[in-house]
Amino acid sequence: MKKCVLLVLSMLSFASMAQKKKAATASPLEAEKQAMIGNLDKRFDEYAKISKQIWDYAELGYMEEKSSLLLQEQLKKEGFQVQAGIAGIPTAFVATYGSGKPVIGILGEYDALPGLAQEATPEIKPIPNQKGGHGCGHNLFGTASVAAAIEVKNWLQKSGKPGTVKIYGCPAEEGGSGKVYMVREGYFNDVDVVLHWHPSSANAADASTSLANKNAKFRFKGIASHAAAAPERGRSALDGVESMNYMINMMREHIPQDTRIHYVITKGGEAPNVVPAYAEVYYYARHKDRAILQSIWKRIENAAQGAALGTGTKVEWEVLGGVYNLLPNVTLATLVHQNMQKVGGVIYNEEEKKFAEKIAETLGEQKQDINNAAKIKNFNDASESATSGGSTDVGDVSWVVPTVGLGTATWVPGSSAHSWQSTAASGMSIGQKGMIVAAKTLAITALDLMNDQATIDKAKAEWLEKRGGADFKYEALLGDRKPALDYRK
Ligand SMILES: [Zn+2]
Repeated sequence: MKKCVLLVLSMLSFASMAQKKKAATASPLEAEKQAMIGNLDKRFDEYAKISKQIWDYAELGYMEEKSSLLLQEQLKKEGFQVQAGIAGIPTAFVATYGSGKPVIGILGEYDALPGLAQEATPEIKPIPNQKGGHGCGHNLFGTASVAAAIEVKNWLQKSGKPGTVKIYGCPAEEGGSGKVYMVREGYFNDVDVVLHWHPSSANAADASTSLANKNAKFRFKGIASHAAAAPERGRSALDGVESMNYMINMMREHIPQDTRIHYVITKGGEAPNVVPAYAEVYYYARHKDRAILQSIWKRIENAAQGAALGTGTKVEWEVLGGVYNLLPNVTLATLVHQNMQKVGGVIYNEEEKKFAEKIAETLGEQKQDINNAAKIKNFNDASESATSGGSTDVGDVSWVVPTVGLGTATWVPGSSAHSWQSTAASGMSIGQKGMIVAAKTLAITALDLMNDQATIDKAKAEWLEKRGGADFKYEALLGDRKPALDYRK
């Protein structure tokens, strides 16, 4: 027994010696990284407060005035040059620090989702009279990206080395395609690499992709009339919408299987005894190949016209959003994965464990071990072919600059995005801990890139090859329309 204790003790002292030796031989760059990680730990409360404030604001797409301003003020205080209201969007901004190459861009988002106002509690508790909620955790997204950019700025300032960090305040990710306008106006033209992240229920940095997406509101106009006394004089706009939906639902059998099409009827008339003169349906279509998406979209437009013709109504549509699929970059994703391993996952305290267990109980078949929040998923470069079912306007950025992202466990493992569970976790310490994991990983990855032109060159070569030759020309899927600033009004 005594022998055993001695053995353990000697093993422990050997381990601590090895650790000391490791610290002593760590490269200056590794030491800088550790300093950044330590600094972000020190500033945890400050950033948690900012993210909670944005969570409380819960502002919907293109209306994120207070959220955007809060982040801008933080950046100004830190010495960034802030250019606000870019690309025709009042709540968009780009903040810059430093000069010369390389130029590293970091994306931040801060829009909330309609209908997801929920308290930061482990049971369903909607907030009355509040329009939106941070079910996608963009309150954490914007804050972590700003925190990372500030660390990079501190390093640039201290080291005196050349390099520029740009943080992009990107509004209306949820269906508003905010970044598309920023890409279209050339705000990413001088950037070497773009970093982003997203709140998630797991820690992972893969070279995965997303679906290209196009969406529009189809507006049918008919003729109002008494539905019982003079129905023959009316033409129902709702009939137009329903006929269109019927045709689209038939079409599902005759399109590539991996297509996604979904709709909601946003206006369908006011009273059954009035033939509706106006009706509106909001469509999303998605596919990982944007050329296929475009051909499906043409058929959706044809269905709208056919529906109008058959029902004696008129139809017009407004394309509100359109985004590219994400172009994965294995070179950059490998680097991010290595850095996330250095940072580590999310460790719950006792209180957070209780919160997480309660949430886990509500997840049904998706329930997972809450300790998964501490793990980092294995790197899977084969996941280039893996596609998330979602879409993001980061996709457009990734076609004009080599781009890489990561996800961190801001939500209880097994939670889905856009749920009350993800809204709740985004407003308390579980979300905030995941946010700091993201900030640390982004900051030290930017530091690596600032000091390693060879990796930037390699990432760029991979990107050029995947993008398909030098003749690629970016054209926004939403055409030349102006930002749909009122799409949430
Ligand atoms: Zn999101």
